[in-house]
Amino acid sequence: MTDGSLENTKERCNQILRNMEASLTARDRVGIQDFVLLDPHTSESAFLDNLRKRFHENLIYTYIGTLLVSVNPYKELDIYSKKQMDTYMGVNFFELPPHIYALADNVFRTMQSEFNNHFILISGESGAGKTEASKKILQFYAVSCPSTKLLNNVRDRLLLSNPVLEAFGNAKTLKNDNSSRFGKYMDIQFDHQGGAVGGHILSYLLEKSRVVHQNHGERNFHIFYQLVEGGEEDLLRWLGLERNCKNYRYLVQGDCAKVSSINDKSDWKTVRKALSVIEFSESDTEHLFGIIASVLHLGNIKFDVDARGYATLNNNQEMHWVSKLLGIPNQVLQQGLTHRKIEAKTEEVFSPFSVDHAVYARDALAKAIYGRTFNWLVNKINESLANKDSSRKTVIGLLDIYGFEVFSVNSFEQFCINYCNEKLQQLFIELTLKSEQEEYEMEGIEWEPVPYFNNKIICDLVEEKFRGIISLLDEECLRPGEATDITFLEKMEEKIGGHPHFVTHKLGDQKTRKTLDRGDFRLLHYAGEVTYCSDLLDYYSFPVIFKVMRQSKNAIIKHCFPSTEPDSKRRPETVSNPDDGAQCLSDPSSQVRPSHPVRCVFRFDLRSFDVVVLPAGHFNDVLVRHQVKYLGLMEHLRVRRAGFAYRRKYEIFLQRYKPLCPDTWPNWKGTAAEGVQLLIKHLGYKPDEYKMGRTKIFIRHPRTLFATEDAFQV
Ligand code: ATP
Ligand code: MG
Repeated sequence: MTDGSLENTKERCNQILRNMEASLTARDRVGIQDFVLLDPHTSESAFLDNLRKRFHENLIYTYIGTLLVSVNPYKELDIYSKKQMDTYMGVNFFELPPHIYALADNVFRTMQSEFNNHFILISGESGAGKTEASKKILQFYAVSCPSTKLLNNVRDRLLLSNPVLEAFGNAKTLKNDNSSRFGKYMDIQFDHQGGAVGGHILSYLLEKSRVVHQNHGERNFHIFYQLVEGGEEDLLRWLGLERNCKNYRYLVQGDCAKVSSINDKSDWKTVRKALSVIEFSESDTEHLFGIIASVLHLGNIKFDVDARGYATLNNNQEMHWVSKLLGIPNQVLQQGLTHRKIEAKTEEVFSPFSVDHAVYARDALAKAIYGRTFNWLVNKINESLANKDSSRKTVIGLLDIYGFEVFSVNSFEQFCINYCNEKLQQLFIELTLKSEQEEYEMEGIEWEPVPYFNNKIICDLVEEKFRGIISLLDEECLRPGEATDITFLEKMEEKIGGHPHFVTHKLGDQKTRKTLDRGDFRLLHYAGEVTYCSDLLDYYSFPVIFKVMRQSKNAIIKHCFPSTEPDSKRRPETVSNPDDGAQCLSDPSSQVRPSHPVRCVFRFDLRSFDVVVLPAGHFNDVLVRHQVKYLGLMEHLRVRRAGFAYRRKYEIFLQRYKPLCPDTWPNWKGTAAEGVQLLIKHLGYKPDEYKMGRTKIFIRHPRTLFATEDAFQV
């Protein structure tokens, strides 16, 4: 190491300090860029003040240590240019103002230097900016990672998988014109040189009910409107579609087929191009759009009542198109939509449906076709993103799952979504508040515990074996014909009636003091109260029409309804059938646990890299305050402020930095802890900058470590 390089390091440290000082002086106007630097007893109001100040200066990013808080500006800011990306590339986390690129870069470099896997959890409510944040991270990697012809190919596919998935999985809701109606976990795989060599996507909980029903002011999935508005004339003719969304019942229930912020025509072109880049063949796209059109035709099928009061279909034109597009004989489809098959010993007996039943079967079919096709689509994209080379990779995982939901009527889908959010919150708590504090205790570091609400009690209420809500639902499903919404509700009242987070009408409303209908139950989630209708059993039925789909000549449908699938299920399909619904109750947090069996090859360092996005636009105090509260940001701040940003085992720390000290280099004979003591004395660490634990050194501020790292690099 030369004197010049030492000077260089010193200058960089000074620069960091000058930045921090500048930020302290400017704090009155622009707030402070890291909450950890706010006064020790920061109140929630001071926290909000700081966010507000920064927001009004278009400074949407603020750190809490290494957690990034982002407030949605709802307008284009000039902070995502290539120049900005270059500025943040390879620069230490705290040297520049907070930015999502700083986080992306830091994760990438840590992954590279430690050769382990990382995971970025993006949380926040609907419309807060989770998907945009994940796109910004992906774009950053697309630009900053090494490029070759082959890698550029992978990069393009990774980027273009987004518009396709958004077309099929996003929709306009009251909160967000481009709301993700599924959860997405995406792996980006990197080789030794840091080139992006592949990816993998897992999707969760597609909101299938939207295919057949949309609330006022909301739309179906974008792809339907894109096809009708943008589809080429020949294609529409072949699909039997007219260029008018208003003609399709499944597209007009929300009464807002046209949205000013959305250009379906140009989005259609983007999707078409993306499909070709991610290697969808002509026949794939033909079958895919055949399915989308068949769903629209299905929605227009109306049933007549015959003389006996049963549902009937007379020479129905829509039926003709469904039959043609799905490649299933018209008669077989009609029979399936209007009858139930009763298994008798020697013969097949068909019992006719009422019109209500037939409508139910039609909608169930539309939802199943769309839901399974979506899963096929994700698998197909994965084939295209798959990395063919089997050498060891490191991975950065991005989780963008849609947030906690409360509607006026909440059914099974909201139940699943909110349960997943509980699990993610639990993961967040465990990895930040709980394990962090436990580690200090284990290492004998003096520590004043920070209290926090642990939502495990609510997770248990849903998932506990034998007495959790899912177990009780399973049990009821084993009693076909006998179980009803009411018996399910009674069972819950009997088994979990005493639970402090569970309320029904009969149990009284003391816990929430709000009225409740007889058939409903209420869960007091960590983020708020939600009343669910107890029609959860409905979602477990398996109409006969599904079996008919096996005869389809459409390759995708054939794949999605395999003949190996059992005709009837003793256990609820939502739990047991991976094609149609297993994701509903599978838990995304399990995918990112370091010990998850499916991904045991990946070891995630989950501690540091989370993004929290907050909705704002006009900085709505109530909204932001609520988010700050339920995301536990104040508790997070308390732990971060009092805690230590970095910790290293003595052996690892010494091994890496011993060349910086003549006493420890080249061979240190004493214990690792003693070696580290000598080393940091030589480096001039001040007593309040670090603590020595039983097995590790704890460093309070990242800048201390960065300075050491810089000294080592030069
Ligand atoms: P949902 O849970 O409904 O999917 P979300 O959290 O994914 O919501 P986004 O779709 O990412 O929300 O963001 C909603 C809208 O907010 C975007 O369409 C965009 O208009 C705006 N937005 C989000 N982040 C930014 C940003 N960083 N800069 C400018 N606008 C943004
Ligand atoms: Mg989203």
